[in-house]
Amino acid sequence: MNYIDLRSDTVTRPTPAMREAMAKADVGDDVYAEDPTVNRLQEMAAARTGKEAALYVPSGTMGNLASILAHCQRGDEVMLGDKSHTFLYEAGGISALGGIHSRQLTNQPDGSLLLSELEEGLRGPDSHFPPSRLISLENTHNRCGGTYQTPAYFRQVSEFAHSHGLKLHLDGARIFNASVAQGVDVKEFTQHVDSLTFCLSKGLAAPVGSLICGTREFIQRVHRQRKALGGGMRQAGILAAAGIVALETMVERLSEDHARARALAERLGRMRGLVIDMGGPATNMLFLSLAESVPMSAKEVAEKLKERGVLVGVVGVRQFRLVTHYEITDAGVDQASAAFKEVVG
Ligand SMILES: *Cc1c(COP(=O)(O)O)cnc(C)c1O
Repeated sequence: MNYIDLRSDTVTRPTPAMREAMAKADVGDDVYAEDPTVNRLQEMAAARTGKEAALYVPSGTMGNLASILAHCQRGDEVMLGDKSHTFLYEAGGISALGGIHSRQLTNQPDGSLLLSELEEGLRGPDSHFPPSRLISLENTHNRCGGTYQTPAYFRQVSEFAHSHGLKLHLDGARIFNASVAQGVDVKEFTQHVDSLTFCLSKGLAAPVGSLICGTREFIQRVHRQRKALGGGMRQAGILAAAGIVALETMVERLSEDHARARALAERLGRMRGLVIDMGGPATNMLFLSLAESVPMSAKEVAEKLKERGVLVGVVGVRQFRLVTHYEITDAGVDQASAAFKEVVG
């Protein structure tokens, strides 16, 4: 069965243009930095984000981990959101593998961290405390509903971090969604951070990979961390070729995903059995819950939707996450709406 798969934008399969580029990719040993296709992708990523250098890694999780390991020593502290992907969904790697202490601050509805809480969270020199070393932001913010923060906010946090000798990292898995949604160049965010990761394998639809961007010196240190984590790949140009196509052709079209997420919210929001959460979609994610009148759990509803050819993410006892991406067409929005109507409408 060909499902309408709204579980995540990670389910996107490579486009025909990507497969063609992969088949023809010029490759070499990337651990020796001799893969011309990986090198080209890295140069494109650095240019696009306005950084000196970039490094291709197998996943966003490894990108954040290698970056945080390169910024911090064992026993240092990173301030991040209590709903951040790095805190919730990266297997605790920064503490398990890096001995890095995490200080969780409350994510605001837009995914931001309050300046006042950052200030409160700052550690003094007293030897009771782990040294504050890093702040990590996430934009768009996944668990806050695909919401975004503005360039002005990034400027403020950057000024705060740098005036206290801290570094600023951005988990920009979906930074291009934040950029397209606000109609601003991605550099408006990235110019304020010391390092960032972004994913090629989400809405940009490449099969594998993320990039870490930062100064040349930082990327050299991250290169060692990537090796230690087992992320040194050889003829990775086969994969990077799809990433180049993703950056060249899949960024601007993200606005279509945002429009379809809004269309879904409008249709589903009219159904008695459903309640739109977090103010509706800001980008390509829609969180919604079952109304009290519905006698089923989200899991049971998801099973019934599946029978109707629609896959959704279950993220709570009564809550769903629906993510739009290039494989979700207008017809897919219709089919998903019709399935929900039959099951809970
Ligand atoms: C997907 C995601 C990541 C990285 O995930 P991988 O599956 O390891 O590539 C990091 N941060 C956020 C916000 C994400 O959504």
